[in-house]
Order: sequence, then C-alpha cells, then structure tokens
Amino acid sequence: MPFDKDQFLSSVSRILRAEYAAEIPTATEKELYNAVSRAVMEQALEQKQPVHAKRCAYFSAEFLMGRAIFSNLLNLGILEEAEGALASVGRSLNCFEDVEDAALGNGGLGRLAACYLESAASCDIPLDGYGIRYRYGLFRQTFEDGYQHEEGDDWLKWGDPWSIPVERDAVVVHFDDLDVKAVPYDMPIFGYKNGVVNNLRLWSSEAVQPFDFAAFNEMKGERKAEENFLATKICDVLYPNDNTMVGKILRLRQQYFLVSASLQDILKKHLAAGYALKDLPAHRCFQLNDTHPVLAIPELLRLLQSHGMTFEEAFAVASKCFNFTNHTILAEALEKWDALALSDLLPDVFEQIVACQNRLEAEGLSKEKYFIIRDNVVHMANLAVYVSSKVNGVAEIHTGILKSETFADWYELYPKKFVNITNGITPRRWLLLNDPALAKLIDGKIGEGWHTELSELKKLKPFVSELLPDFKRIKRQNKEKLAAYIKEHEGVELPPDFIFDVQVKRLHEYKRQLLNAFSILYFYQKIKRGEAKDFPPTAFIFGAKAAPGYYMAKAVIKFINEIAALVNGDEEVNRYMRVVFVQNYNVSYAEKLVCAADISEQISLAGMEASGTGNMKFMLNGTVTLGTMDGANVEICEEAGKDNNYIFGATVDEVAEIKRYYCPREILETNPDLKRAVEMLTDGTFSDELGMLEKLQGSLLSGHDPDRYLVLYDFPDYVRVKEQLLKEYGTDEYYKKCLLNLAAAGKFSADRSVKDYNRLIWKLK
Ligand SMILES: *Cc1c(COP(=O)(O)O)cnc(C)c1O
Repeated sequence: MPFDKDQFLSSVSRILRAEYAAEIPTATEKELYNAVSRAVMEQALEQKQPVHAKRCAYFSAEFLMGRAIFSNLLNLGILEEAEGALASVGRSLNCFEDVEDAALGNGGLGRLAACYLESAASCDIPLDGYGIRYRYGLFRQTFEDGYQHEEGDDWLKWGDPWSIPVERDAVVVHFDDLDVKAVPYDMPIFGYKNGVVNNLRLWSSEAVQPFDFAAFNEMKGERKAEENFLATKICDVLYPNDNTMVGKILRLRQQYFLVSASLQDILKKHLAAGYALKDLPAHRCFQLNDTHPVLAIPELLRLLQSHGMTFEEAFAVASKCFNFTNHTILAEALEKWDALALSDLLPDVFEQIVACQNRLEAEGLSKEKYFIIRDNVVHMANLAVYVSSKVNGVAEIHTGILKSETFADWYELYPKKFVNITNGITPRRWLLLNDPALAKLIDGKIGEGWHTELSELKKLKPFVSELLPDFKRIKRQNKEKLAAYIKEHEGVELPPDFIFDVQVKRLHEYKRQLLNAFSILYFYQKIKRGEAKDFPPTAFIFGAKAAPGYYMAKAVIKFINEIAALVNGDEEVNRYMRVVFVQNYNVSYAEKLVCAADISEQISLAGMEASGTGNMKFMLNGTVTLGTMDGANVEICEEAGKDNNYIFGATVDEVAEIKRYYCPREILETNPDLKRAVEMLTDGTFSDELGMLEKLQGSLLSGHDPDRYLVLYDFPDYVRVKEQLLKEYGTDEYYKKCLLNLAAAGKFSADRSVKDYNRLIWKLK
C-alpha cells in the first residue's frame, strides 16, 4: 500500500478529534491505538478486490489471532513508515505492546486457523474465516502460591478498531426454545504486500427483540427477559478446553449458532448473485476445522430442503461442499453428543442426522463402527467422514494413524477420501515480525524471496559458517530482551548467558511437561551431590495454560512452580540453573520466547501430538529440537536431518508393545535418581496444602493405567540425550545445527499448507 506520511498523520488527527476530542501529542495510548488503526483501515480497505468464481469458507470455533496491529502494518508494507511518521510527532508504535491479544482460541488448532487466513491472503487464495466473536477469550492466567488462577479475558478493553459490525447481514438463528440474532463483525485479513484483503467474519449473539421494559413491569415479560439473557450469553465465553470434549448445552448452542448464521449468510449471497442452489459447489466449499463446526452438515441439508430440494439432492450438494480436518486421535477429544439433548435443542437438525444414519445403513454400511448414531450418542466424526469429500490429517504420522486406526474402517471403504496436509505457520508473524534482526540478516544473504517462498531459506546452507557470529549476536540480544521482560513480569532473573531451554504449549499430560520437570530434579540432585561442577548453566522456561477443570494439568503447574522456588532460592544451585513458569502464555508471549530459545522441547509421547506447530516456530527461529518421533517432529528430522536435532524415546510402533507389560514401579527400581525425584512429590520437600502433588504421584504409580503417557519409561533416554545436548551447547557445531534447521524450515510455511489444501481439496481458481 502506498504510504503518504502527511495524509496518514492528518487522518490520525482527524479521527482523534472526532472520536475523542484529542490531539496526537497528548492522546492516551488507547486513543492513539484506535485512531492509528482506523486510519490504516480507511486506506487499506480502498484497495480493489478481484472477483473470484469460487471461495472457500473456513469454519472454526477458534481463531487465535494475537495482536493485529503490527502484523497488519507489516503485511500492508507500512510498518517502518508508520513508526517513522509517529516518531516525527513524538509518539511510537511501541506503546501498543500493551494491547490485548485477541485470544479467541485455546492453542494450536486456533492458531493454525489464524496462520491459514494470513497465508491464504498472502497467496491470493480466496479463503474466508467464519467464527464466533466471544465476549471473553481464553482466560488470563496468574499464579498464586504456585497454583493457577483464572480471570476473565476482557480482550476488547482497548476497543476493536480492526472490526466492522455489518448490521445489514444480521440473521436469526432458531433453537427450539429461542430465537437469537446473529450480527457479523468483519475483520480484514491483509495479504503480505500483495493488495489482497480476505475476510474473517465473527458472529455475535444478540436478543432478537429489544428488551421490553413496559411488558417486564407488568410481569408479562419474564420469559422474554430470560430469552434475551440467554441469547446474549451464547457468545459470552470461549470454552477453555484443549483436546477435550465438554458435553455442555451452551457449547452445542455455540456450535450451531456459528454454522447456522454462516450458512444462512452464504446461501443468501449465493441466491442474491442469481445462482441456483444446485450450483453451490461451483461457488463455495467449506473446510471444517475439527468436529466443532460439523453441525454445518445437517444444517446445510436442512436449509437446502427448505428451499425445495429433496434430501438426496441436498446430500449430493453437501457431499461436494464439505471437507473435514481431524486434529487429534485422543479419545477424550472426539466429539459425541447425547442424542436426546441434541434432538431437544435442534429437532430439525437432528432429523437430518437421522436421515444421514438411515442413508448410511441403506447403503449397506452395517458395521457399528460407521454409525453416526449409536446407543443414543451422536458421533460427530463419523458424520463428518461420511459426508465430506476429503478428510485430512495434519502431519504424515498422524494421517497414517487415522488410516490404520482411528478411521481404519472408513479408509478401507473410501481410500481416496483421505489425504495428508502437514500443518504450517506463517513466516511473516513467526520470523519477519518477531525477529526483525534475524530477518534482516537473512535478507542480506539471500534477498527477500523467502518472505513469500520459504523454501528459499535453503540458499542459506552454504553460508552457515559465515553467518555464525551474527546469528550468535542476534540470539544473545533476543535472550537479553526476554530476560528483561521475564524479570519485569515474573520477577525471576535469568542470566542471558544461561542456556534457554523452553517448553511452551498447552498443559496436557500427553505433552509431558512432567518429564521435563523430573529431569530438572535429576540435575538438581546431581548438583547438590557435587557431581555436576561442569553442568552448563541452564534456565528451564515453561509457559502453559491448563484447562480450569483439568486437575492433573493444574497439579503439574503447581509442581513446576514449587521446583522453581526450590531451585531459584538455593544459592548452591541457582548458579547452575534457574526455573521459571511464565504466566499467561499467549501468542504475543510466544513471539518473544521462540526467538530467544536455545532448545525447543517437543517431548510428547509418540503418536499423541497430531502435528504441533510450536515445533515449527522454534525451528524457523533457528532452534534445535529436543523431541520424540511424534507429529511434525518426524518431518522436521526429514527436512533438517535427524543428526541436527536431539531425538529420544519410544517410537509409535514401540508404544503399543511397551504398554502390554508396562510396570512403572519397576522402572524406578533401576533408576534411583528418578525414584528420588518421584518421591519428592510427597516427602515434604514441597508445600501443597491442596494435596495435588500426591494425586500427581498417584497418576504415575497406581490406578488402572498408571503412567499412561510413559513419562517414567522415556525418562532415561530423555536425560541421556538432554545431557548430550547441554554438553554440545555453545560449540560451533551446535550453532550450525541451529542454522541448518532454520535453512530447512521451508516445508513448514503455512503458504505451502494452504496451497496444498487448494491443490488437493478446494481447487479454487
Ligand atoms: C503455536 C502456539 C500453540 C501451539 O503450540 P504446540 O507446541 O504446537 O502445542 C499454542 N499456543 C500458542 C499461544 C501458540 O502460539
């Protein structure tokens, strides 16, 4: 976008005056933020958009967008110009570092949706997002006495200058017990320096009728008032669960609200353009981001029949439009709804699900494995696989497991339906924006082509040795910045010459933060015994939110916070190690962490992490992976070489065999240091008035499936490889591995992912 400094500043001034009666020099940060954002919006939305024959709608209950302002300025090509213009009047973009993240998602799945929108716009692929405008996003996390506390996330505190409410596109969503108005808020998605603007449409729920005080006073309106209350509640809050199913009716309402509003809107536009409904697949396709939006299938069937189609005609259209992405094989995450609850709330939609089940049986699919409705439970994944045109997993190993296990019967029936599309991340936010110094260094060597064609990073390979000094200097500066930020926000001092060993991601037992924690206690014991005089000083950095109802995950947080207090407070030990669990890990924190890390911990039990995208962020920022052969780690090793990373642990093929005879207590008998570490959970070393640590120990040693995720089994190999990595740290060999990973990160661009989706599934343009 062309940038005219004087025009920009005069727009900012005009908006400040009109909206806030303020002037640039004295406006508050919030006023300035809104005025700058609106000034950019005015200019950017003037760009003419190409008309596409066909568009894809990405239906997702989550979009973990993070902060918009810096990324929008970067993509519009005016980041430096806007900073220069503000500097000339004594202001700076820096004060917008306090703007709230738009955290309308939990973790990887929601962040993936955000990366895909950015990449599609940058690749000129007509992809639009459809989601929910939660009033409160993912909770804000603090620690009190080492325990996690949750507070509401008031993400609109700074205003929402990047959204436009489009009242004329409002629709009514009908539930059996109430009608709700859905009002869309449109957020532009700017492609990287290409003039493309796609759209993210987030629906907000409102009462259909304004509150009627007169009726309420006459006591007639009590029911109406209740309805109005319920209607606004639908979008109140994002469910804070990651990889678990919560069978709450409000969640079901949210899911239906999202898909009904979106499909009504899309069909209305399709008809208004003069097209026939039977031609919908020529103009539209829908990508279902996990099972959360799968009610879109029966809803489309219902809507098409309400326009006069037969069920079979509608089914033919739906099966050409829908595609389904599976994100997990964890049984506790696969969505199932109680058939009675669903039919109570949405009888017409349930009728369509029943019709799908009948069609499936009429086709002769008599195996119960295929059933959409079985024992009064609706299996959303089966509905999605049955009707969708394509079904994809998110990394090679994950798609393999879908074919051989999770959906093996479906794969036998429809082998061509299944495709793999390995996840990716946008290199704009995850390198250009979060580490401009490193980006400049790369530009200087190989030009700027990699900004939009990430595989060009491989041109760096011949320069790896030559780049080492600059790379070390930049990494050091990033570590200093992160250390200052952590000192300010967490009150923990991390010397920047320590190794920064980072594990940041949602807290889940399968991700095995506990394995990392035990290794810290192992090193701690060695240092206390005086056996680790040559232990390289290391800072162990964690960041993770636990779902508020996930007891064991919260216990792990408490455990690591107690370890941090023990280690950091021990003068004998804190020369060798520090431990910090940062509060409120989110996209903006991630941007600071991934460019300052020396080690990327990706240590899930093999077979459990579908892909991971955190692993890709670290790789792109020049960080070696300490990880298992799981998810996209496998492909990271294929691209960068196994020898350039630090791989340990049971493989997916070994896991099933190990579990047959697994006895965690036996492992402890052969490993006294590990045994000590496990005992420390309950021997009084740590304070824990809630008794969480005892239950945590119990989950490893007793119950019907002790140590489900083989933490103790993988411990010896983990520590062996971790010690080797810590020993190699700081050598030229180590730094070369970092840069070779960076140079091999091309495959993990979300640009490649969205182009794969387009080539294999959407076939737009
Ligand atoms: C990338 C990202 C994730 C996903 O991390 P994984 O390590 O792949 O689980 C989760 N949360 C935030 C804030 C992220 O930026």
